[in-house]
Parts: sequence; C-alpha cells; structure tokens
Amino acid sequence: MAARAIEIRLGREQDMTADIKRLEPKPERSAPERPAREEAEAAVRTLIAWTGDNPRREGLLDTPQRVVKAYEELYSGYGREPSDVLSATFKDIGGFEDMVLVRDITFHSHCEHHMVPFMGVAHIAYYPVDGVVGLSKLARLVDLYARRLQTQETLTAQIADALEEYLGARGVAVMLEAEHLCMSMRGVQKSGASTMTSRFTGVFRESTAEREKFLNLIRPSNR
Ligand SMILES: [Zn+2]
Repeated sequence: MAARAIEIRLGREQDMTADIKRLEPKPERSAPERPAREEAEAAVRTLIAWTGDNPRREGLLDTPQRVVKAYEELYSGYGREPSDVLSATFKDIGGFEDMVLVRDITFHSHCEHHMVPFMGVAHIAYYPVDGVVGLSKLARLVDLYARRLQTQETLTAQIADALEEYLGARGVAVMLEAEHLCMSMRGVQKSGASTMTSRFTGVFRESTAEREKFLNLIRPSNR
C-alpha cells in the first residue's frame, strides 16, 4: 500500500519538475525608481483607508511606519546575490562525495500575485564535487530568494539553479512544501492544503534511483 502511494507521488513530482523550466535571465524591464520612505508610508495609509478603516485613528497612526519597516525585513532578499552566501565552500572534505541533504528548512515568502504570505519547508540535497557549503548557508540562500515577491515555482528553481551554478555540484534536488495563505484566507479558502514543487538537476534528473533516494529520505515517515 505504502509503495503504491510513493509511486503516485513520484509520477506527480516528475510532472511538476517538467513544468519548472530553467530560468533564463529575463530582459530587465526597467524598474521604477525606489520611492521615498514617506511615499511608501503614504501608500500604506491609502490601503488602510481602502480597507474601510480610518488611518487617522489612534491605533493606526504609527502603522504605516511599522509596515514600511517590516517590509525592509520581509523583502530583504532584493539587492543580494547568491554569491554573497555561497562564495565560501569547504574544500577539505576528505574525498566525501556522497549526498548532502538538509531537510525541513523553514521559510516564509510572499506570493507575487496577492502579496500574501506562503510558508513551509524546503528540502535540499546535492552531490558535492569540489567542496561543500556550510549548512546554514543553504538556509540563508532560501531566505535570500524567499524574501522577495515570489511564486513557489520560481523560488524552487532559483534555489536549485544557484546551487548548481555556484557549487558545481554533480546534481541538485530541491523540494518545497508550502501553504499559501492566499488560498486558505481568500479565494477558494482551503486551509491545510500544501503545494509541492521540485526541481532536479544533474544526477537527480538523470537517475530515477537518485530521485527516489532523495524522496525517500524526505518522506514524512522517515523524519
Ligand atoms: Zn497569491
């Protein structure tokens, strides 16, 4: 029974992987100049008024200021590059070339369609060639991309592509499981549903056995 469930899951994940295409650098649409902090605060006041509340009532007076400050943290992934995080690798790994797997890396992001949070866990595995990266760096890499306006698919691909590019790994496997509040709080209002996305490169893409090994290690029953 359990084996059959895994088979079904495998099939689904492979389909999803096919949908996540390698991210080619898109021609940058010239980003508008960053507004002044006062302008951002004024925009929050406008949104408060749009909700139907009064931005001048006492409890809300400092809210625009707080929201803008929170945005600096929630969206701190802009202006940072994966090289900032992944440049230092440990070369002296004594010939270790087996799979490195870190699972259940928690992350919080915001969907680019509604600017509503989606959150969950990332599982990352790779086969080192020329050194390994500090485990905390993987978490920082996830944050770097999660703290932007995102889709889960793009986030998954960006993490995998950055690891492949900067680590020169023989293969990278990334799987994200997340709950999207824009689905649970609004729209279809289905809470508890989790969306899974995955991306496999190198040996994980080429070998079903490698994918299965990865999927088996991150199975909830093995955690
Ligand atoms: Zn959304």
